[in-house]
Amino acid sequence: MSVKNEPSFRESVDLMFNRAVALMDLPPGLEEKIRVCNATYTVRFGVRLRGSIHTFTGYRSVHSEHMEPVKGGIRYSMGVNQDEVEALAALMTYKCALVEAPFGGSKGGLRIDPREYEEHELELITRRFAYELAKRDLIHPSQNVPAPDMGTGEREMAWIADQYSRMNTTDINAKACVTGKPLNAGGISGRVEATGRGVQYALQEFFRDKRDIDKAGMSGTLDGKRVIVQGLGNVGYHAAKFLSEEDGSQIVGIIERDGALVSEKSIDVDAVRDWIVKHGGVKGFPGATYVENGVSVLEEDCDILIPAALEGVINLSNADRIKAPLIIEAANGPVTAGADEILRDKGTVIIPDMYANAGGVTVSYFEWVKNLSHIRFGRMQRRQEEARHQLVIDELQRLDDYLGDAWSMSPNFKQKYLQGAGELELVRSGLDDTMRTAYQSMRERWHGDDKVTDLRTAAYLVSIEKVAASYRAKGL
Ligand code: NAD
Repeated sequence: MSVKNEPSFRESVDLMFNRAVALMDLPPGLEEKIRVCNATYTVRFGVRLRGSIHTFTGYRSVHSEHMEPVKGGIRYSMGVNQDEVEALAALMTYKCALVEAPFGGSKGGLRIDPREYEEHELELITRRFAYELAKRDLIHPSQNVPAPDMGTGEREMAWIADQYSRMNTTDINAKACVTGKPLNAGGISGRVEATGRGVQYALQEFFRDKRDIDKAGMSGTLDGKRVIVQGLGNVGYHAAKFLSEEDGSQIVGIIERDGALVSEKSIDVDAVRDWIVKHGGVKGFPGATYVENGVSVLEEDCDILIPAALEGVINLSNADRIKAPLIIEAANGPVTAGADEILRDKGTVIIPDMYANAGGVTVSYFEWVKNLSHIRFGRMQRRQEEARHQLVIDELQRLDDYLGDAWSMSPNFKQKYLQGAGELELVRSGLDDTMRTAYQSMRERWHGDDKVTDLRTAAYLVSIEKVAASYRAKGL
């Protein structure tokens, strides 16, 4: 998506990496070892469809094995190529290190437009791709664990898990070979929404510190902030939905493949999603104004811009016209290295991809742990917790009775307090904690070191230090 004379996606990631390592004092050679991609496997395979054999090209790239398994999504898109999967695999390494998910970085992709195929055809293609990867241990519970990305979701992950199980009938941990599965196939509550939820938690943490808000020249809280989101897929939809329903933000722009919707009032995200499912795009949606040149809406006036579709959309051709003072990179690599420089100079604050969309891999980590422990989170503690809470409620009830009209428990308190945490509550708590802690580690660098002028550099510094420490501990 980047314009001419701009580096490729992978080069862009490398440039940003280089900016950060220039501030570090790594032993000679280690910088290069961390930066380069260890291996990329390309596979071309045939599937018999509609009376003839169709050949597909897929990739699985492993960026760093300083921790194993390695982890990263599988993308289905016509834009998939080696450069892209390598860039995405590198981002996975830094992302996992930043949020302390104990994985190395990997990524996969299949060059395909999934909308061109029937469900049963996609199943055949996915199973065949999974077979090709699994037979080389590029899908494996202890070596390489994929997840959903653009163009894939729970359905594809369930096929992959099943394919792996068929090939490894005695592997008791087979379900842990892939994450993002449906609940009934070994998934975890809260995974589908996790990346969007993580974007929400990231913004909440941003707005907790006045210094950060000041840097963006903003004020107040998320309440009433005007938001433009690009891509109403898994990540963009959930982020926009939670921000508007729970934080009072106004969704004033939605950019999709076929154009954009803009409105003075907040757009009903669920209604747009339903419209896209029915009509294949946003055009004709009655609750907002349609703009044919969708990308131009990235340049509209707003408080928060959330690119949540694809890479390179904010580049040298439009960066100087971007008005949003705060950009949160829900997609991977939406801002090119050149655009990043222009925006930094303008004072735009960018919450970087490797942090902003880490909610997905965080909950994937929880799912993997759940699969390996073979038990749902909260199953052992929930009722015990409820019983202990009941003791407190009983005491408070005695007090309530004794004090009569002078005091009583607030409405709903009993019900809320009595409820022990189930899997979903625990997943949300773990995700919130992870997003806050990781943000705080970036914030410390951002405000604590004059040479660190942006959150992206701060994020790289924190994660590269962790990766370097792993290599050192291994004796490399
Ligand atoms: P998705 O396939 O669910 O959604 C992508 C959306 O973007 C779709 O609605 C699509 O129509 C729209 N889109 C495609 N091309 C567009 C264009 N040119 N202009 C505007 N909209 C366009 O994908 P997703 O899983 O939401 O992933 C989106 C981004 O988030 C990707 O960069 C991905 O790598 C990143 N990401 C996803 C996850 C995850 O858990 N799914 C985790 C981390 C990062």
